[in-house]
This record gives sequence, structure tokens and C-alpha cells, in this order.
Amino acid sequence: MAKLTGMSRTICGAACGILAAAIVASGAGAAPPTAHQASAVTIAQPAAALPAVPGPVKVATAKLPALLTTQANLNLRTGSSTRTRIIITIPKGTSVKVQARASSGWYKVTYKSRTGWASGQYLAAGKPVKSGPKLPSIPLAHQNRGPNKTSRVVLTYDDCPRTLSSFKSVINYAGKSNIGLVLAPTGDCLVSFKRRYGVDLAALARSKGQWVINHSANHVDLRRLSCTQGARELRGTGVRTNYGRPPYGAINSNVRCAYARADMKIWTWTHDTLDWMVRSKQTTVARAGAARRGDTVLMHMQWEGFTPDSIRQIRNRLSDSGIGLCRAYHGKDGRGAVAKTPVYLPSSLPC
Ligand SMILES: [Zn+2]
Repeated sequence: MAKLTGMSRTICGAACGILAAAIVASGAGAAPPTAHQASAVTIAQPAAALPAVPGPVKVATAKLPALLTTQANLNLRTGSSTRTRIIITIPKGTSVKVQARASSGWYKVTYKSRTGWASGQYLAAGKPVKSGPKLPSIPLAHQNRGPNKTSRVVLTYDDCPRTLSSFKSVINYAGKSNIGLVLAPTGDCLVSFKRRYGVDLAALARSKGQWVINHSANHVDLRRLSCTQGARELRGTGVRTNYGRPPYGAINSNVRCAYARADMKIWTWTHDTLDWMVRSKQTTVARAGAARRGDTVLMHMQWEGFTPDSIRQIRNRLSDSGIGLCRAYHGKDGRGAVAKTPVYLPSSLPC
């Protein structure tokens, strides 16, 4: 057990270290970003629009701004807490009149002649921060959203679960609650669970109506490999299927070539929770719960978003904004009980 935890942390540790370094590098803004830094910038960007880790609230001594802009679709509520009733959902990018501010950081605002309370985490001066990754000449909408062409949100989890029981509890919960997750375990992870428990995590997840995609064999930065080496790394012990997520989201022409050679399409993400960085259930849930229609949300199996309760809370938050989660697979006709998902994903996921 200790060995597994160690391995999971190593997987994330590598991701964290490289990403953190790249984010700092991009923040310095001295040199034009390399492909790797560019990919990290796109990862770092949404964080600015996301709620910060809650900290001690200072009662504002500065005077209130007259107007604030919603940074996401934001619920206007009867009181300054998510437990109060929703009056209306204010679209992202709307300017609202500020009336007062609670010590909790919530604002009393007026929108369309209705006055209520809205969380200050999603209000800021100026225009909403763009959260769409911007890389040149890539069919990003397709690559980032993968085969989900619906308005439902897909929760995706990379790397490796901490324990077999944590994995089972999540996929059992998802299957029972009619939620279809996308899991991207590494080959290392699959081999490790197979060796120790005789369990095939991919098969187990599929038996509960969940989707499984490739995340390489050893979680290496594929850009350092040639096309041939990259294809070998993707196949190896990695999940055999037709969609894959490159480790670190790191992509260049070699990586594209490797995926093409391995007969896989790249599926990254549109909404990053940075769960590995915050390691807080509350923040991870808040960030995932702030996803927009059709988003692919990135989380990891070894961190705080991968529990039945986290997923339940994320579903409730999205539902507050009128957004549904991708549903578990119910067979080709979409009817009846939850069915085993195919190894190869359809080009349009039945979310
Ligand atoms: Zn990963």
C-alpha cells in the first residue's frame, strides 16, 4: 500500500514539478515560450479565473467598486451563501452594480433590476479572463473536447488511484448515479494493480459504464521522443484504445506524429482544476463545479476530486447552473441498465 502511494505521488510529483517550473518561467515572460511552456501557460491561464483557496477575509476598508464583472456564469442568491435560494443565473461577462460587500467576500449586487448576493470569487473588475487555451494552428476545439459533442460536462481523471478501494468506490458510485467518467490511467498504474491485486482497472471501470483512455505507459514527456519512440511509449503497457491524453498536456509535432502512428486521437481538456497543486477538496470541487457547458474537466485519480462525495458535490454545483454531467453508458441504444463501455470510444460520446 505504501509503495502504491509512493508511486502515485511520484507520478504527480513529476507533473507538478515540471508544470510549476513552466508556469514560473512563463510568468517571467522573458523569452518566447517553448512548446512546453506554451502548454503550461494554457494550463495556468484558467487558474486566474478560478476561485482562490479560501483564506481569512478582511473587511474591506477600501471603498466598493461601482461595477464588477462576472467571471463565470454566476448564481444570484437570496443570501450570502450557497445554501440560499438562487434568484437567477447571471451570464459570464456581465457587469453588475455593487451595493454592499459581506465580510465573507460575497457581494450584494443588482442585475436586471433584481438584487441579491453573489460569490466574490467569481466577480472581478474588468472583462472576464479568457479561459480558452490558445495555441497556434491546432484544431483545439476538437482536441480539447474530445468526442464529447454534447453540452454535458465530462469529468476526467488521470494517472493512478491511491488504493484499489478508492477506485472501486468511485466507479461504483458513478455507475449507480448514472455518471460517465473518463479515466486515463498510465500503463505503470495498470501493471502495478494487476501485479498486486490481479485486477485490471480499465476492465473494471468499463464494466461500470465508464470510459477509459490512454495516458502513455510511463508518463514521460513525449516531446523528448521521436515519433517512433513515442508511438512505442503510447502502446507499451498503456491503455489500448483510440483516444489518449499526453502526459503534462505536452504536445509538439513529434507527439502528434506518435499519436497518429499509434492510431489514437489526442484528447486534452478545456477546464483545469489544478487539483494536484491545491490538494484541497473544497477548492477542487468549487473549480470543477464552475465548469461551463461541454467542458472537459481535468482532475487526477490520486487527488481530492476523486471521491464519491466530491463528484456528488460537483454534480450539485453544475446542476445549480443548469448543467448536466456526462451519463454512464447504457449500450448502443442508450436504454436499459448501465452497460460495459466499448474499448474504442465512438466519435460522438453518448453523454
Ligand atoms: Zn498525468
